[in-house]
Amino acid sequence: MLDSKRSQGFERLRIQRLFGEILLSIAVEEILFYYLHRILHHPSLYKHYHKKHHEFTSPIAISAIYCHPVEHILCNLLPVLVPWILIDTHVLSMWAWVALSSPLGVMLHSGYHLPLAQPPEFHHYHHMKFNQNYGILGILDWFHETDKEYRKSELFERAVFFIPINTKNINYHARLIWNVVNKHLMKRY
Ligand SMILES: [Zn+2]
Ligand SMILES: [Zn+2]
Repeated sequence: MLDSKRSQGFERLRIQRLFGEILLSIAVEEILFYYLHRILHHPSLYKHYHKKHHEFTSPIAISAIYCHPVEHILCNLLPVLVPWILIDTHVLSMWAWVALSSPLGVMLHSGYHLPLAQPPEFHHYHHMKFNQNYGILGILDWFHETDKEYRKSELFERAVFFIPINTKNINYHARLIWNVVNKHLMKRY
């Protein structure tokens, strides 16, 4: 016989619950990832567990999971799986969350921009400087001021932002979109 937790997976999942649980998972992941990642940058741990991931100073998609097994458990698995256990989410929310969060980690290392997601420049700057941008969304970096140098950098100006909105890069991307549209229209007509 199924216990209550396992049988929960067969309950109907309401859309409000799905969005609520995904939002909570994003918050828990941001907190866990930021602090665990920052702990791995402690000099006594860095060389053993995190240096491998930082061999890529300019990361590519597959380098998202290029890391020591201890880092993989602490930074890649726990922040994604703990929300499921902590919030006791519906099994379908958990599937949706894993399906959403895993490609985002790859995307952050890939150099490609996705609309409404953290731009890859954010994590690329971490790989360049090591002591900036420990988080995923950047909220805790803003809170702890571990993104100060990044905000003054050229990469910040190039990033397409969802959080926080930067007028400089809005102008930059409006110009890019205009150039693409213009080029396309010129070709056709
Ligand atoms: Zn990385
Ligand atoms: Zn790091």
